[in-house]
Amino acid sequence: MGKALIIVDVQNDFCEGGSLAVDGGAAVAAALAAHVRDHPGEYDAVVATQDWHIDPGTHFSSEPDFVDSWPRHCVAGTPGADLHPALATALPPGRIDAFFRKGRYEAAYSGFEGRLAAPEADDAPEPGPTHRAPGVPLARWLADRGIDEVEIAGIATDHCVRATALAAVDAGLTTAVLAPLTAAVSPDNARAVFDELRRAGVQIHAD
Ligand SMILES: [Zn+2]
Repeated sequence: MGKALIIVDVQNDFCEGGSLAVDGGAAVAAALAAHVRDHPGEYDAVVATQDWHIDPGTHFSSEPDFVDSWPRHCVAGTPGADLHPALATALPPGRIDAFFRKGRYEAAYSGFEGRLAAPEADDAPEPGPTHRAPGVPLARWLADRGIDEVEIAGIATDHCVRATALAAVDAGLTTAVLAPLTAAVSPDNARAVFDELRRAGVQIHAD
């Protein structure tokens, strides 16, 4: 029995000033830092996912449709792929227990497609698309620690938060989304997304 907080893709490129900025991203970064600080005993683990692209094919486009194709973002090893400083510098080193990176050679919306980032060496591009990232998948990392409940927050509500929550339910985890600690690409769609997640068995925490 244990509970983890999964912080989804709170990266510079998804916050104001980034290449795929989501309104409210920086505020979510700051609010998440405060949430982690204010709940010191709440979580047995705090993990963060990162979109981490090397050559994700048609996920990138110079004429993006903002549904299946997007402007270049979160290129592995660039500042745009770093955690937003309002989150990264507000927490003591090590407060985030592990980072899971996804999307090296293809689109990856769910954090459960992510694999544990190796310190430092992980920034180097891998030899080719047939080489899978070596790290432990998120679901196994959580299972190894007895985590059976997750709370999910981050960016974007209607894409990677949504996909991560659905995958958490599929993995058999008791799953909640912390709605105020998310930001949506299309805020008008957020309500429909939360309704969809509720139907899938996700609790939506509104405060
Ligand atoms: Zn991406």
